[in-house]
Amino acid sequence: MSSDLDSIPPVLVEGFLKLCEGDFSHRLPRSLLRDKDDTAAFFFNAIAEELDRILRVSREQEQRLLRSEENFRKLFDAAPVPMILIDEEGAVRMYNDQAAALLEVGRQAIVGASMREFFADENEWTMLFERLEKEDVVDARAVRLRTRGGHTPWSLLNARTLMLDERRTGVLTLADLTEQKRIEERLRRLAARDELTDTLSRGRFFEVVREELARAARYSRPVALAMLDLDHFKSINDRFGHRAGDDVLRAIAGLMTRGLRSQDQIGRYGGEEFAVMLPETPLECAREVLDRARQQIADLRLDFGGHTIAITVSVGVVSVLKGESIEAALARADKLLYRAKGAGRNRVLAE
Ligand code: GH3
Ligand code: MG
Ligand code: MG
Repeated sequence: MSSDLDSIPPVLVEGFLKLCEGDFSHRLPRSLLRDKDDTAAFFFNAIAEELDRILRVSREQEQRLLRSEENFRKLFDAAPVPMILIDEEGAVRMYNDQAAALLEVGRQAIVGASMREFFADENEWTMLFERLEKEDVVDARAVRLRTRGGHTPWSLLNARTLMLDERRTGVLTLADLTEQKRIEERLRRLAARDELTDTLSRGRFFEVVREELARAARYSRPVALAMLDLDHFKSINDRFGHRAGDDVLRAIAGLMTRGLRSQDQIGRYGGEEFAVMLPETPLECAREVLDRARQQIADLRLDFGGHTIAITVSVGVVSVLKGESIEAALARADKLLYRAKGAGRNRVLAE
């Protein structure tokens, strides 16, 4: 054994010691005599050269990786949309300033926090996360978040998975949908209500009446329906202009709405025609309610550009028959309305 060691040239021993210390630039002098020492030096140098090369390449790779991570980080921070990276457990790994602002986390660090916390409906997150795990992608989902500030903004979620630092990572982008939802809500309100008079739209009125009729039929309760039309309204437009006409429509709608009970409903049926529903109301009672409204309208004096405008209405009112459709009941009310017109206007006819 010791004789074996003795046979290793001392320069070689010294060379290997250098390698062990991490000095890969050390080379052994060559005599080029091709004797035992020179051959050993040749092999040592070849090994040192290769180790040096491997090390250089891996250092370069590390640099490249660092640079690409740095670039990724820059891109991530500069992205104009909130972005969050999550790990395999659904916990936050990284997030940009936009995400911090959206989630209202302030200076609190949320790395490690479960994304579940930031969803108004935790089950929705569980479902989306399972889907992301299974399919690696979630596209354009409108979700309701829950911020640390206690708000619940709408957001459009897109998600992908990718490998980052050899770990499967979810990349979430969250676009703010608050403004879009506000517009949607406004459109929904517009569709349900008439903008000029703030009474129900015709479509919504039919919906509410249909619901009420189904309920009334179940409990055998009376429901009254009325049609109301302004008298000689055309002449108001002709004499005072369309804007005066609009004011009159608004005033009458306001007066009717204030005069009715909360369960009563009024809808704008056509240009200057309104339909009214009075649940739980026998015919005679409905006639009285509408006649009181008719009188109040007749007493109304509206000032428009120095002119005093007076207006009357004609009304037809019916009690909805068992099994009768809204359309049929309103057609009966409409017939009565035109009989009221024929009889001299400014009156309520009931049947
Ligand atoms: P009648 O007593 O027979 O009901 O007479 P009228 O003039 O009220 O009836 P007609 O149906 O002939 O005219 C209704 C008018 O209502 C026609 C239209 O110019 C007007 N009108 C309908 N919608 C609006 C509106 O939104 N604003 C205004 N200013 N006028 C409207
Ligand atoms: Mg009319
Ligand atoms: Mg009219």
